[in-house]
Amino acid sequence: MPLGGDDSLNRREILLDLFRQARFLLALPIAYTVRVLSESPSAAATTIRPKGEDMNLDDIPGSSNPYRLPRHVLPARYDLRLEPDLTTGTFQGQATVAVSVSQTTQTILLNAVDLAITSAVVEGSSRQRFEASIELEPSTQRVRFSFRQPVTPGEWRLHLSFHGKLNDQLRGFYRSTYKDASGAIQTLAATQFEATDARRAFPCWDEPDFKAVFATTLVVDPHLTAISNTSVMAESVEGHKKLVRFADTIKMSTYLAAFIIGPMEATKPVFVGKAPLRLWTVPGKQSLTPFGHEIAAASLKFFEDYYGIPYPGDKLDLVAIPDFASGAMENFGAITFRETALLVDQRAGAHAELERVADVVAHENAHMWFGDLVTMSWWNGLWLNEAFATFMEMLAVDTWKPEWKRWETFSVARAAAFSVDGLLSTRPIEYPVHAPKDADAMFDILTYEKGASVLRMLEQHIGFTTFRDGVRQYLRTHAYGNADTNDLWTALGTVANQPVPELMNGWIFQPGFPLVTADVRGQELVLSQQRFTYISREQSPEQIWQIPLQIRLCIGDRTEHRRVLLTERETSIGIPAGVTSVFVNEGGHGFYRVRHRDPLLQQLLDQGLDRLAAIERFALVSDAWATAQAGVMPLSEYLQLTARFKSERDKNVWTVLLDSLSYLNRLIASEDRATLEAFVGELVGPAMIDLGWDPQPKESDLLRQLRGDLLGTLGKLGNDSATQGQATERYQRYRKDPATVDSNVVPALVAILAHTGDEARYDEFVELYRTATTPQEERRYLFSLASFRHKELLARTLARTINGEIRTQDAPFVVGALMMSVYGREVAWDFVKANWDHMDRLFPKQGLRRMCGGIVGLATPELEQDVRMFFTSRKIDLGGKTLDQYLEQLRIAVAFREREGSRLKAVLLGSLET
Ligand SMILES: [Zn+2]
Repeated sequence: MPLGGDDSLNRREILLDLFRQARFLLALPIAYTVRVLSESPSAAATTIRPKGEDMNLDDIPGSSNPYRLPRHVLPARYDLRLEPDLTTGTFQGQATVAVSVSQTTQTILLNAVDLAITSAVVEGSSRQRFEASIELEPSTQRVRFSFRQPVTPGEWRLHLSFHGKLNDQLRGFYRSTYKDASGAIQTLAATQFEATDARRAFPCWDEPDFKAVFATTLVVDPHLTAISNTSVMAESVEGHKKLVRFADTIKMSTYLAAFIIGPMEATKPVFVGKAPLRLWTVPGKQSLTPFGHEIAAASLKFFEDYYGIPYPGDKLDLVAIPDFASGAMENFGAITFRETALLVDQRAGAHAELERVADVVAHENAHMWFGDLVTMSWWNGLWLNEAFATFMEMLAVDTWKPEWKRWETFSVARAAAFSVDGLLSTRPIEYPVHAPKDADAMFDILTYEKGASVLRMLEQHIGFTTFRDGVRQYLRTHAYGNADTNDLWTALGTVANQPVPELMNGWIFQPGFPLVTADVRGQELVLSQQRFTYISREQSPEQIWQIPLQIRLCIGDRTEHRRVLLTERETSIGIPAGVTSVFVNEGGHGFYRVRHRDPLLQQLLDQGLDRLAAIERFALVSDAWATAQAGVMPLSEYLQLTARFKSERDKNVWTVLLDSLSYLNRLIASEDRATLEAFVGELVGPAMIDLGWDPQPKESDLLRQLRGDLLGTLGKLGNDSATQGQATERYQRYRKDPATVDSNVVPALVAILAHTGDEARYDEFVELYRTATTPQEERRYLFSLASFRHKELLARTLARTINGEIRTQDAPFVVGALMMSVYGREVAWDFVKANWDHMDRLFPKQGLRRMCGGIVGLATPELEQDVRMFFTSRKIDLGGKTLDQYLEQLRIAVAFREREGSRLKAVLLGSLET
């Protein structure tokens, strides 16, 4: 899956937005004593726990973990027949599972939830047939078949009959609806099985290492289309129904099976190798497919070349589903998407919206090998799927559209990962998973963004070709099977002929990341590391990483590059005389923060920021903001630093700057807000005047997006009346003729008009949300309903999140956005408290968890206390460490407010004067 729903998560839109807005990246003041200086590569890794050592014993298969299945009965093949009835919202199913029994048993345990199993019979090769008594275990999501006779070692077939409901929870086998051109409600059925919901559609061994072949027959109404993982082998008629029989799949995990039934339309196929590639939509949306089709074909071809393995399926369908909990799902050969992640009008879409489609499509295609062909053994290793797919998504999109500078924009995602990984409640990338809830909680920024970041760091360290060849070896060795982190390191280490496990284990099995401090002493550059935390240094855990450092030395106009593997707490390297500046983390690929101690920082600033690459300027500001958040760099110093960026034209650098101002906006007293608005105007205004409202010919997509970002900030956060007036005028022009306004400016216009809008505007935007013709337009007007300032209007938006008006795939993200709004947070929080039980039943679990991320915006001491009381008294568990992380982020924000809030106005005024 790509991380999250329509969050920026996605891109990751909302979630990443939440992370972004809540970004408090911290640096620590360092005062260590000098220790032995060394560049020995052997140290450090000794403290790292190898794979599995921190797992509870009961997480090992065959042990006492009640959620796991025993290993003495193994499925090899499922012959499935499923008959969904879209009218009644139910389905009937039959399964024959070929199993190998390795020890005599009288029970067979597998997974099933919310299914009625009416019969279970095993049949042996010599015609023995034993009927089972059936006992469901709802608390562990298992079903126990008990036989009076012993089932002896050998091959057996298990015949099952069952039925269930097509649910509205967007998981398992579920129902999705949409309005057709005539306004009538149409229904389709779709599946979402990852992580542990295949068991809601058919009884199965629902753990990723029980790989098997699936042979599926779907029995549907004749006018409907049926899609599954493989090509249609045959269609026939049975009574009033159509039987669609699909080819056998490759050996694969249960969570990758998929069934979609509905009135669907397909593009013409394009062929990548022998496999036809098609995009599917509900009727009337085919005009939105060309962009997605293009990146789908380009990325599939790219992966075939990169992996050196042909696409392993017999066809590939990309299917847009009107209701979809996450962004997309890499079902083998039948990838499902929410509409915003696949369908877009190329001319009307803003750059960010197009990028999102390209990213998600490339991400899912990458999974056909990473995840589907080779699968992690258990959910603790989810990063092997997701970090790799995220890494490969960047690589593919960067190759497809180099002008988008995808790896530079990835800095924003890396910084978002820092913000969570700097918490004490962070977790290692690989982390024990006990119950299904914990598996769901693994789909977070640490698995995706941190994981992809450390892979990028390794790739840059050992080189593009070596890394690729290691990946090829890993995939070839484990094709059609399962693998662990160590298997990957072994492949990469063998090809690289380097101790890759020693280097990488610290990044995968330890929580957190290092802060590297660079200091000059005489002719030596002293480099030291310490875990980066938001709290006092005394509590900072003692940890060491092997850090591949890339360093640039400038000696006048001459440049030298150094590579150092920092394996000790501290090391030093000799530097030539006359060094005029030093930059650590050249290229910005490292998953660490850097503190350039004076005079190094001053030298970098004095020589001019334009001597740094954009990605390096990003790192510099991001690290400075983190330092300010920690109270290490005075806020006044940070604000003065921002003034040096008035002529900055890099979108990502501006993202950090603007996010830091949004953050301050949530902490400042409302009576002081005008001062912050003036500060925003002073910083952003000149850049906006320079850029102008209209794009220049041949302007890059990134610059166009920057214009939109700056405008939106000036009109909302800066509350600039001239910008607001201009926005109103341009919006009217846009409504008459969309071609008159650049597509990157439109989202800002809508956001500004909501910010200044009254009831009439609100009603207008509700109507535009309802009648939108593209998923992006729909989303834009939907989220604008959270951007108004009048509490009564925001209350109406909240009511719409639970009364059926807003799809449940979107509603939790709207509530989350409202909790992040300084105008909506109180009313949103009251609403959450009052309607928690209802939301818990109504929203997809993943959405509910993401919604709770909005509590980070409730950054007042009173709200924080109330939030803690609520979650404690209700004993709410969001799985893994999710809730702890939200609460810690909230604590840090409130602490920052308590520290800086009362003098914030004076500091801003001081910065305005200088
Ligand atoms: Zn994924």
